[in-house]
Amino acid sequence: MASARGQPLQALGERELNSRAQITPLKSTRKLEADVYEVKAPKESVPKEKPKKKKEKLSALCKTPPSLIKTRTGKDYRRGLFLGEGGFARCFQIKDDSGQLYAAKTVAKASIKNDKTKTKLLAEIKIHKSMHHPSIVQFIDCFEDDINVYILLEICPNQSLMDLLKKRKLLTEPEVRFMMVQIIGGIKYMHNRRVIHRDLKLGNIFFDADMNIKIGDFGLASVLKGTNERRYTICGTPNYIAPEVLTGKKTGHSFEVDIWSIGIMLYALLIGKPPFQSKDVAHIYERIKINDYHFPPDKYISDSARTLIEHILKTVPGLRPSLDDMLLYEFFTTGKFPNKLTVETLVAEPDFSYLTESQSHMNFLQAKRDSGLIQSSHMTPVEILKTDLESEKPKTLLPQSLSPGNTKSKYKEVTEPVLKQRTSEDPANSKLGRARRLEDHGMPYKQSRGHRNKSVSNAILRQECTNILNGMVISERQARIRASSRLPEIEPKTPILISKWVDYSNKHGFSYQLSTDDIGVLFNDGNTLLRINHSSSFWYIVNNPNEGWLAQEYSTTDAPAHLHRHIEITEFFAKYMKTNLCKVSNDDDSIMDQDEIFLRRYTRDEKYVMFEMSNGSVQFNFKDHHKICISQTGCTITYISPDRVCKTLALSQVFREGGFREIVEDIGLEEKLDMIKCALKEKIHASLD
Ligand code: ADP
Repeated sequence: MASARGQPLQALGERELNSRAQITPLKSTRKLEADVYEVKAPKESVPKEKPKKKKEKLSALCKTPPSLIKTRTGKDYRRGLFLGEGGFARCFQIKDDSGQLYAAKTVAKASIKNDKTKTKLLAEIKIHKSMHHPSIVQFIDCFEDDINVYILLEICPNQSLMDLLKKRKLLTEPEVRFMMVQIIGGIKYMHNRRVIHRDLKLGNIFFDADMNIKIGDFGLASVLKGTNERRYTICGTPNYIAPEVLTGKKTGHSFEVDIWSIGIMLYALLIGKPPFQSKDVAHIYERIKINDYHFPPDKYISDSARTLIEHILKTVPGLRPSLDDMLLYEFFTTGKFPNKLTVETLVAEPDFSYLTESQSHMNFLQAKRDSGLIQSSHMTPVEILKTDLESEKPKTLLPQSLSPGNTKSKYKEVTEPVLKQRTSEDPANSKLGRARRLEDHGMPYKQSRGHRNKSVSNAILRQECTNILNGMVISERQARIRASSRLPEIEPKTPILISKWVDYSNKHGFSYQLSTDDIGVLFNDGNTLLRINHSSSFWYIVNNPNEGWLAQEYSTTDAPAHLHRHIEITEFFAKYMKTNLCKVSNDDDSIMDQDEIFLRRYTRDEKYVMFEMSNGSVQFNFKDHHKICISQTGCTITYISPDRVCKTLALSQVFREGGFREIVEDIGLEEKLDMIKCALKEKIHASLD
């Protein structure tokens, strides 16, 4: 095979990118986490005991780049200090004309000997280039000269988590909590884009200048074409390899391997070495396969951390918690949570004793927000209701008291839509899949009516309910504290409200108008069409069991044929609501949130209708015509009176001063807030059943 020396890189097609399952694992020749506990990587399969041959690292072929690196585009860079070395690449500081520093992952062209290696490198570049997340090392550029290929990356000057652990020996739970939220945010981002990292380990997780987490090294990453596709290549780093990679040559592996690595990292950070550590690789594998690990009695670990690790390190991939589930564990929800890490952390154990419970709670929320784990847009990937249409007799429309108008006879004009039901091809490893099977066996899934939801994949809805509930509790506490001291309060912002709605789920779906005048239809197949007001575009938001919601924008004039019927139905509802229903509020608040959001779930109860929105707010339309929306993670309350006067306040202020008396004398606020808390608790509880 001809040497790749001097050849320009070729663009990589989708086919090649997805063909990683057929290729030899790159890591078999790459450096491992070379530290106290890492062992040499195996070749392609589980190794038998045999004398180890020392293999030359490909990175050794990488010569120090010239001090002035000239690119073909004319942009030149100055090479700086050596940063580190992997199995494949050496990394140098590099500076552009403006003085901006980057890391240049440098791969010798001499090491790209064959097409396979070239394909792998191109795959790494292509995948990494597509990633844009605060917890992922930002890919900047890629270029080559005659001897090297340079991957220009955001620089991480504070080394890796492995370097930190080597220095500190053990980390404290508050700092691990903080790091893990950022790591989970980055992984969730990847998984939502069908990317499995497959080499998550302490040595591939870096710190930027502000001590924020940056996940790097996409050398083993793989893109799945569909969520049910599997990968079969045995690859990874021995201590971090998931059991299904070792045993599942036929069944393959998927996203859960990254979840497993989180469990390994958690254990390593809190105990000081990985759980399956052993002198030789074969023994590590044996231990992984039989789940042979222990918590050493001489090392302190809290029960909550231990429980989380035990739940993650389950041999059966489907039993591991999802990324969202993890964040609901006590390990994250209780205990000290810093708002940031400092560089002092690199050398000494930080003291977080000053953190109060409510500060910790706020910091946790903020960390989740910053890591994209609390979304405020339609892109929120969540599982949503799937109305149990078949088993239901046509529902009567809501009584006048609950719906802004009587809608009954108007729907005759709508004929049966040709909605394509999405089916889950092989739900074996999908938690939603399990829920659907339950459904098939006579356990109707009636989430929309407030019944218990057996699906595990509604973790995000659960998380949002938890956030709101916690925020409400904190606001109540804050109200008490503020009586004596001054705490900064969140600026209340009027949320987007559901201003009109009609339930026609016995036929098509649930339609609503937002206070932005956007119109949404939550179709019975769980997908949503959101028509944006004053715009010729709309969003079609598809519910995908493993990925949650994926939104795509289309132009109304250029919509794909399969959405024509959906548009027609949406138009029908829009027209209907315009002519027949009153808006919930007359309020025209200038600081109203203008995001595009959609309805995730609605619940009809005897006393209220509950709406859960994709920005995390919850709206309750009570039977007595009062309406309350709790938003901004439980810190803000909006009240809408029966005569449609709307007012938004900080919830803590309402707790302190007693409510909306200037609008209505007595709205039974306390009772209503209790009802809201109960509803939220019930949702959280139901989804944990
Ligand atoms: P390989 O693909 O060969 O394993 P890595 O991506 O692990 O290479 O990079 C090799 C080394 O280069 C790392 O261990 C680290 O020391 C350093 N490095 C990699 N990326 C960065 C970065 N963005 N900033 C600073 N140093 C980095």
